[in-house]
Amino acid sequence: CGIVGVLGNHEASPILVEALRRLEYRGYDSAGIATINGGKLDRRRAVGKLVNLSDRLVHEPLPGKSGIGHTRWATHGEPNEKNAHPHRSGPVAVVHNGIIENFRELRCELAKKGHQPETDTDSETVSMLARLYLEEGKTPVEAARATLARLEGAFALAFLFDGEEDLIIAARKGSPLAIGHGDGEMFVGSDAIALAPMTDTITYLEEGDWAVITRKGAEIFDMENRRVNRDARKIRMDA
Ligand code: GLU
Repeated sequence: CGIVGVLGNHEASPILVEALRRLEYRGYDSAGIATINGGKLDRRRAVGKLVNLSDRLVHEPLPGKSGIGHTRWATHGEPNEKNAHPHRSGPVAVVHNGIIENFRELRCELAKKGHQPETDTDSETVSMLARLYLEEGKTPVEAARATLARLEGAFALAFLFDGEEDLIIAARKGSPLAIGHGDGEMFVGSDAIALAPMTDTITYLEEGDWAVITRKGAEIFDMENRRVNRDARKIRMDA
């Protein structure tokens, strides 16, 4: 139900958890984060309140300065740890808000290629597709673009890739998504309030947009994959 992402200069996990806390008002049943550390992708998830995730992180810390996070409001699959986001398929982790309407067709197609789901969610088909495209030799950006082209439904998405400490790919169709600009750091969030402690300079993705985000900035593309300019605005936040 809420998405956050950070390419930062500090440890990402406390920043991600704080950003998720600021999205708690939307409601959720479970939460999770994934980071990259030394090129390696890893994740922690927990059912229930964010404090359960924070507790887990005390015992099993998740180092790394790049990461994504999620609070889930289950639509497909029970609220349990297995179904909590980020979903991971091999070298790719994904957080998703919304519903992938054609996930059953996509699952059939993936099954024919020998890829079985590990969760009961619609969302996992996104990470599974991205993995398939990576295995076919596509770059992370190409794999994300090819994946997005296959999805029907409403979504806000963020992708994180093994071995890529300076890359988050984000996409918006039917669910809002804000990109936050820091000083050599970049952020993503379902709304600007989530990013308020880090930055007040925000670019809102428009319907159908997707973005290749690095610490240098964001390149934004529309649904026809044309490079577009979206203004960065200063947002006043008293929160
Ligand atoms: N449909 C997805 C799920 O059930 C995402 C739900 C959400 O927006 O949190 O896992």
